[in-house]
Amino acid sequence: MQRFTLEAQNLHRSFGGVRAVDNVSFGVRPGELLALIGPNGAGKSTCFNLLNGQLKPDSGVVKFLGNEITGLPPRRVARRGVGRTFQITATFGSMTVRENVQLALMANRKELRRFWTPARRLRGGQADTLLERVGLAGQVNRPCAVLAYGDLKRVELAIALAGNPKLLLMDEPTAGMAPQERVGLMALVAELARERGMAVLFTEHDMDVVFGHADRVLVLDRGRLIAEGSAEEVRNNPLVQDVYLGGGFEEELAEVEPEPDPEQEAPEC
Ligand code: ADP
Ligand code: MG
Repeated sequence: MQRFTLEAQNLHRSFGGVRAVDNVSFGVRPGELLALIGPNGAGKSTCFNLLNGQLKPDSGVVKFLGNEITGLPPRRVARRGVGRTFQITATFGSMTVRENVQLALMANRKELRRFWTPARRLRGGQADTLLERVGLAGQVNRPCAVLAYGDLKRVELAIALAGNPKLLLMDEPTAGMAPQERVGLMALVAELARERGMAVLFTEHDMDVVFGHADRVLVLDRGRLIAEGSAEEVRNNPLVQDVYLGGGFEEELAEVEPEPDPEQEAPEC
């Protein structure tokens, strides 16, 4: 068995003169929740995009399940088993929760042609099983457009799980959620990671979520990894405290929670 589900080795990516990702190396293990934190502009999203094929690195290597995937296009990276959560606005609001998940299940099995035929019930049972697992059993027949934001995030998770990923990338998964909902969502993600042996790499601004759920934390600052360790180790690391303004970083980070990233790409259907 591979020690790491995903390995990044010496990744570099610059934009003009800005070294957005500067010699970054790390691995994420099966079933592990790895948090990537750092101030705005630290390079977290760029790092994600290098892993999922949205961006090509200037240099460095990405390995998934032991095979090099550096520079492969997103669709092919996804097919190998790298899932990612999307902004929920990318779902079809007029379709029901179940239909959105059916569509994702069918897309992953190249059955989409059949969706618009009477076979609309295809994969309904599987969709319901996934939706029950993410706590949405009571919502399957509701159009996505009427769901509460926290529930939409769970639909988003079910859609990502439809591809049966071995690695799930979640860039700011709890942005815009109430604190209690954030903890609930990440607790669910942690359970799913254990159950499925699925590795999870996520970025997060809420330090309660990071310290409560991450098995390990990576800290990025101006493109460079400046710390790596358990939540406790990272919290007590003087370099990290410096970056987050002298230890008061919980409040600092909570205040700068960004709006959902409009540049995130819609799922391919
Ligand atoms: P984070 O997600 O940690 O907030 P980003 O990865 O979005 O950070 O950005 C890292 C740095 O790279 C920033 O200085 C940002 O302005 C720059 N950057 C990111 N994407 C682009 C782009 N497409 N073109 C130019 N500069 C970019
Ligand atoms: Mg970002």
